[in-house]
Amino acid sequence: MKVARTVAELKKDLRSIPSSERPLGFVPTMGALHTGHLSLVHVAQRRCPIVAVSIFVNPLQFGPHEDLMSYPRAEEKDLEVLEEAGVDHVFLPSVDEMYPFGRSTTISIGDLATRVEGEVRPGHFDGVTTVVAKLFNLVGPDLAFFGQKDAQQVAVIKKMVADLSIPIDIVACPTVRATDGLALSSRNAHLNEEQRQKAIALWKALGEGRAAFSSDSDWDTIEKVMWETLVNGGVQPDYAKVVDPDTFQRPTSRTHALLVVAARVGDIRLIDNLLVTPEE
Ligand code: AMP
Repeated sequence: MKVARTVAELKKDLRSIPSSERPLGFVPTMGALHTGHLSLVHVAQRRCPIVAVSIFVNPLQFGPHEDLMSYPRAEEKDLEVLEEAGVDHVFLPSVDEMYPFGRSTTISIGDLATRVEGEVRPGHFDGVTTVVAKLFNLVGPDLAFFGQKDAQQVAVIKKMVADLSIPIDIVACPTVRATDGLALSSRNAHLNEEQRQKAIALWKALGEGRAAFSSDSDWDTIEKVMWETLVNGGVQPDYAKVVDPDTFQRPTSRTHALLVVAARVGDIRLIDNLLVTPEE
């Protein structure tokens, strides 16, 4: 496994990939890796002979009062895990290496980035699209793999790639969950035992939302049910909504609906989502 910490090292490492070994798969992450991240690596390895992973806690996507400083970091362990998983290339740049000229050019994809999660975290998706565009340019993958766990991020990246004609296929991979349903997340590492129990409220809310959807409830009712389940579960909801998975606006059809929730458990903010279909 080749580890590059600078753009120059990365370019040198990637130059040695013969075109016969493409497609090159890419999994961008912020580290503190768990089984959810590794599932993306495994999907990538099934489709690509060479897989690159980046680990970069991107300051641009954190708001001024968010958890940039306390975001979990586990570089040594991450490298062990990636080596064991058979990853070919890791890019682990510093903030200065990624943004040597500070912040100037920003990729902003428009309204989608300001809805739902973007409304609660203004500027978040501009930070995501800017760093992902930059990573795409540096790594030059053919396919890039993202988790459905961050459903709006997937929609935002797909829109950026379509709007800017970026020649990379975006592959969305299923959410990996703990046995009780909690979506795996690097931030779960900060949950104490009591908070870990409460965090299940997000998955419960999605389950209740799905049940309401199945019994033909309208969008408002489904949202209310999810919100109440969050509150009753002892977490503080940021939102509980039904959206179209591409636009993140109210769905225009019951065949294309996504339940999305975000809530705080103490200081820790968690998000989750579930696609619902009329057969369920
Ligand atoms: P992060 O390190 O949180 O930025 O996540 C890096 C990538 O892993 C993103 O595409 C996430 O959507 C994905 N990811 C995070 N958690 C999970 C999970 N539980 N299941 C599947 N993918 C995940």
